[in-house]
Amino acid sequence: MRQVDISNITDQLSVSPQITVVDAEATGAGSGGELCDADVAIVGRGAGGIAVAASLKSRDSDLDVAVIGPADILYDQPGWTMVGGGIFDAQSAARTMGSLISKGVHWLKSALAAFEPENDAVILDGCRVVKYRRLFVCPGLKLDWGKVKGLEETLGRKGVTSNCHYDLAPYMWKLVRQMRKGRALLTQLPMPIKCAGAPQKAMYLSGDAWFCRGVLKDIDVQFMNAGCVLFGVKDYVPALERYVEKYDAALNFFHNLIAVD
Ligand SMILES: Cc1cc2nc3c(=O)[nH]c(=O)nc-3n(C[C@H](O)[C@H](O)[C@H](O)COP(=O)(O)OP(=O)(O)OC[C@H]3O[C@@H](n4cnc5c(N)ncnc54)[C@H](O)[C@@H]3O)c2cc1C
Repeated sequence: MRQVDISNITDQLSVSPQITVVDAEATGAGSGGELCDADVAIVGRGAGGIAVAASLKSRDSDLDVAVIGPADILYDQPGWTMVGGGIFDAQSAARTMGSLISKGVHWLKSALAAFEPENDAVILDGCRVVKYRRLFVCPGLKLDWGKVKGLEETLGRKGVTSNCHYDLAPYMWKLVRQMRKGRALLTQLPMPIKCAGAPQKAMYLSGDAWFCRGVLKDIDVQFMNAGCVLFGVKDYVPALERYVEKYDAALNFFHNLIAVD
């Protein structure tokens, strides 16, 4: 495994020197040939990927574990809900990879381009090859904003926002803070979505902010859920219903957002 000297940027990126960072693009390491062998290759350096790496390393510190993913910043996606609800500031929901990835794990700073299962290998951007004994695939879900007509061009302005994006969550809190009366429409799209609780957390946190400011009585809270139940795990439903009642929210099931005009 080739190693990049990161000592001069350690402070900036909070990278532990015990992590091997291989920036395949920058170094040109292994161009057109074999970049490395790993006992375990993990595609995706999100919460899933780094948790798998940490778990494996804690069980067997001799394992050669390589996590594959290009970005330096890992976003705390559940934290975005709290940003939208005014509990966290946005910066606290973004962390450097180096501060999170386990010691001794190799981080291959590159995107995956292809799988080559017949050779127990994956191909990174730039045709670099990583061979593995075991492969974990943790690429997460990719949001398809374009699926809702008019949404992409309206997000972040004219009172339209989402807590499913780092840049938009602060705008959600701004809207909640500024709202004193009128109708608040909160939507939950059909599965698969990143978090079944996120749309509702927006409703409860906004409702609470309006309740505490004494303006809730002038706000018509409408929750439009594409599904048919408040929450898929029925044991949680009675407790959630108490908050729906407290914030006087109208629940609308089988209502899917298809366009923003
Ligand atoms: C607003 C919100 C609130 C949430 N609240 C909660 C909560 O309260 N509780 C909870 O348990 N969960 C919550 N979640 C869900 C939780 O954040 C996700 O389940 C979790 O982040 C999934 O982790 P992951 O690693 O599978 O995917 P991700 O975090 O999406 O990471 C996948 C990574 O793979 C990378 N990748 C994709 N393709 C490639 C490729 N070709 N090459 C290299 N890398 C690639 C991506 O860039 C990304 O870095 C919430 C999510 C959101 C959006």
